[in-house]
Amino acid sequence: MNAPLPLKVTRDVAARAYDDVAKISNEVAGKLAARLAEETEGEVLFSNADKGRYATDASIYQVMPVGVFVPRTSDEVKTALAICRDLNVPIVARGGGTSQCGQTVGVGLVIDHAKYLRNILNVDVEQRSAEVEPGIVLDHLNAALKKHGLWFPVDVSTSAQATLGGMAGNNSCGSRSIAYGNMVHNVLGIRAWRSDGGLLELGRLDAASGEARALGSYVKTLSDALLPELVAHWPKVMRRVAGYNLDIFNNQSEKPYTQDGSVNLAHLLVGSEGTLGLTKSLQLRLAELPRNKVLGVVNFPTFYKAMDAAQHIVKIGDGTLTAVELVDRTMIELSLQNPVFAATVRSALIGQPEAILLVEFSGASKTELIAKIKQLVELMGELGLPGSVVEMIDDAAQKNLWEVRKAGLNIMMSLKGDGKPVSFIEDCAVPLEHLAEYTSALTEVFTKHGSKGTWYAHASVGTLHVRPILDMRREGAAKMRAIAEEASALVRHYKGAYSGEHGDGLCRGEWIEWQFGPKITQAFAQIKNHLDPLNLLSPRRMIDPPKMDDTTLMRFPPSYQVIAIKTALDWSAWNVQNNPVTEQTSAPGSGGDPANGFAKAAEMCNNNGLCRQFDAGTMCPSYRVTRDEKHTTRGRANTLRLALSGQFQGIKAQDALTSEAVKDALDLCVGCKGCKRDCPTGVDMAKMKVEFLHHYKSKHGYTFKDKLIAYLPDYAPWASRFAPLLNLRDKLPGLAFLSEKLIGLSARRTLPQWKRNTFFNTPHDTATRGEVLAASKPVVLFVDTFNAYFESENASAALKVLQAAGYTVHIASKAQPDGKSLCCGRTYLASGMVDEAKAKAREMVDALAPFAEKGIAIVGLEPSCLLTLRDEMLVMGLGDAAKTISEHALLLEEFLAREATSGKLDALKAALKPITQPILLHGHCHQKAFGAVSPIMDVLKLIPGAQPELIESSCCGMAGSFGYEASHYEVSMQMAELSLLPAVRQQPDAVVVADGTSCRHQIKDGAQREAIHVAVLLARQLRE
Ligand SMILES: Cc1cc2nc3c(=O)[nH]c(=O)nc-3n(C[C@H](O)[C@H](O)[C@H](O)COP(=O)(O)OP(=O)(O)OC[C@H]3O[C@@H](n4cnc5c(N)ncnc54)[C@H](O)[C@@H]3O)c2cc1C
Ligand code: SF4
Ligand code: SF4
Repeated sequence: MNAPLPLKVTRDVAARAYDDVAKISNEVAGKLAARLAEETEGEVLFSNADKGRYATDASIYQVMPVGVFVPRTSDEVKTALAICRDLNVPIVARGGGTSQCGQTVGVGLVIDHAKYLRNILNVDVEQRSAEVEPGIVLDHLNAALKKHGLWFPVDVSTSAQATLGGMAGNNSCGSRSIAYGNMVHNVLGIRAWRSDGGLLELGRLDAASGEARALGSYVKTLSDALLPELVAHWPKVMRRVAGYNLDIFNNQSEKPYTQDGSVNLAHLLVGSEGTLGLTKSLQLRLAELPRNKVLGVVNFPTFYKAMDAAQHIVKIGDGTLTAVELVDRTMIELSLQNPVFAATVRSALIGQPEAILLVEFSGASKTELIAKIKQLVELMGELGLPGSVVEMIDDAAQKNLWEVRKAGLNIMMSLKGDGKPVSFIEDCAVPLEHLAEYTSALTEVFTKHGSKGTWYAHASVGTLHVRPILDMRREGAAKMRAIAEEASALVRHYKGAYSGEHGDGLCRGEWIEWQFGPKITQAFAQIKNHLDPLNLLSPRRMIDPPKMDDTTLMRFPPSYQVIAIKTALDWSAWNVQNNPVTEQTSAPGSGGDPANGFAKAAEMCNNNGLCRQFDAGTMCPSYRVTRDEKHTTRGRANTLRLALSGQFQGIKAQDALTSEAVKDALDLCVGCKGCKRDCPTGVDMAKMKVEFLHHYKSKHGYTFKDKLIAYLPDYAPWASRFAPLLNLRDKLPGLAFLSEKLIGLSARRTLPQWKRNTFFNTPHDTATRGEVLAASKPVVLFVDTFNAYFESENASAALKVLQAAGYTVHIASKAQPDGKSLCCGRTYLASGMVDEAKAKAREMVDALAPFAEKGIAIVGLEPSCLLTLRDEMLVMGLGDAAKTISEHALLLEEFLAREATSGKLDALKAALKPITQPILLHGHCHQKAFGAVSPIMDVLKLIPGAQPELIESSCCGMAGSFGYEASHYEVSMQMAELSLLPAVRQQPDAVVVADGTSCRHQIKDGAQREAIHVAVLLARQLRE
């Protein structure tokens, strides 16, 4: 048996190793990069921008690593370890980087396990277990397990991003931990690389031999010797994730780690936050997928009552209770303001509750579970709250409400200004009987410190998330410490756990000794020293951690400064400050941002990682195909933040924004606006890209291709006259190749075909300005460049449909005619020519304001053009007229759906012939971003017999000119192949409806199918 080493040795070594590496020389970094590149096939990312993107996670911290390594195989992790050992460089393991306490930031080499190490190695359905690599994301694992009727039940809110390796690292806990336990309760075995290169294979102690058995004996000796200390200091709640699990030998948890009382050595690594070994694979215990669920939403008149009720509710569970989750008044209000969530939240409310508890029961039959809901209703009656329960039996309704709860923290983070809800005491766990008193006392602490907390989460297990609003650039760090001190005293008073879900990291490391006392802390150091004597793995995290309020480790320290720039777009809505108690924000433009709000807009990203998702929403197509951190919205926002605050070493602060590093990060952003809708804090990268391009191109110049694309609306009338000649590019062999070589347009693409007969040179029977202003059913049709010059049949079809519906249609034209047509400025924006776009937008305002002011709808066909009126035109300094226009600008389908709802389309409905063909709909990204997809579904359903099916797709990949560019062709096609093209191919008989010009082109190029605009389908169905 190995005797424990004296603690002092460990501590001295730890401190030295960390400090040495903090000052690591470029020479060592260079050698490290060179050897990684030579000895592995993995990605070696050592640029300033790459390091900066991996310097943060979902915490308040930022520490520049030496470099980043993305291994392709787990053997390459071993190689990297060997190289780091030789060069004495520490290693920080990383999965999705969604940790909230700074676990994944550090000075060493960051190893990103998420990109390649994500295989399911084995599923044993009989035994209900699976072996996986550490980088697999929970949702992906569960998707693969679904067909077996199984799942891995540690359902963290970040299930779409969190990797199993990261979840094990943090000992993560899901909403349903009351039924399934934490990560530690569900891990059966771990294989991990030790820092000396050996492979640790840990599982049940009774089956262990060799090194594993010796480790077991070592830890048992420590644990047994400390039994009185464990009994005295170890929190007895299930939600305790701090320190190492020394209690595997002498259980202290209210829920023992194993069902049969055996000892599993893998549990020692669970929650060790990458400090003891690098996980190679995990053996997981799976659970049967719950066959039925019901939800009772209890509405409470006071927050205290909700907290007090939790202890009674858990008693009616008898094995079927799977969750009791809290949502407080602030969260309810914020959700009601969010168009995506409002209706769902409303359906769960009775009056205006101060808090709601989501009480879930799961089991074999709905009937059995409905009885549990009745029991809940009775219990509430007994507790003096009759009529307080909304019964949700329907699965879809439950799912929607859970989505709101899952998004809870993110919704809270959307507060603009420098004060942000900060995570540092956000998961303390206290025994249920003290929950109400604890939350009241903590609320008083916040008030005393001039802040306020918003509460939500796991009432069933006494873990409540709360984040007071603090301004870390000013007095935030000091306040954080003061609040932490008082909160910890409360936790001790109520015999709770200070770290109950999110781990220790930089934020809570120093509280380990406070929680467990010096002797247990010393034992932790001995375990660390035993497994990682070289102190290579995340040094100074669990052992000898820095102070939580060390501002040199923070993303927004008081020294944080933004470079002054003159912005092209108006970012003043972001340039505000907030009141930490009322959460009211100051007037636009008053926030003191030297970058006029652009920096504050980029700083909205709190690094929660939601943009690393694959299965829902649109965000972020370029990450979906590359799996690169650089190509996430988060990676881009971080790159911009670092540039705008002059944090790129070696680049002059003034030059950083226009550097290649920023261009590189934004290059694959297709401007789909997926993040504008899906990012919970509202990071709007599409708009930021326009701002960036303006600065970049202004400095480096516009290429011929930029001009060719941007000025298209200007030369379109002229070009259409030479249509046959210009269309030769796709007919004469060699010309496409030449256009790629000379201009950069992909030879593998055909280009939109010019037409001699455009919408504008074909006579139409339409109303004049005067006629439409006087009409009883007026509408103004804005015909964009694409639908006028390339696909004029769409504009003609729209006109026909509107007239068949009885509208007086006026075609929008310039107030001062000059032979050119109106243009929203989209092509100029895409090329970064903001001034030219503004000039176009000004003409739009002059032309359309008289109609908008009279309340006449302005209807458009091309989503990216029409929706510019509701988006970018509002940040171009065009005043109130632009706002009025935005309120009346509608896509054709939005207009028709609105009119149908108010009973104005009966004539049109009667004129439509039935359809028997299946209809497939692909929504344009901007339609999705503005909630304009369901109106198309509604409009399609006006056709008798139509059963439209929406393709669950992200961006089509064409995104304006993006996919036509030779440098983007491959990525563009990969985006299309994610789901759009396979779905189209699967239904060869379907009519494919796509309103976006470029989407239709992509479908044609990729699936050789003609997609049509909804206007065309409607017009086709009109009886003659
Ligand atoms: C909005 C939001 C909501 C959250 N909700 C929850 C929640 O409901 N429940 C919960 O428990 N947590 C939650 N978290 C915290 C976090 O998402 C989880 O802890 C998650 O499991 C971390 O997974 P990850 O892949 O991002 O890991 P990372 O953050 O990348 O890493 C986590 C830890 O594991 C270590 N690690 C990663 N890979 C390895 C490896 N191969 N070998 C050894 N060590 C490794 C890292 O060094 C680090 O210490 C939330 C975070 C956010 C931002
Ligand atoms: S960009 Fe948005 S979704 Fe992505 S990490 Fe930042 S805040 Fe989260
Ligand atoms: S606009 Fe689209 S591609 Fe660009 S960052 Fe946002 S989601 Fe990603």
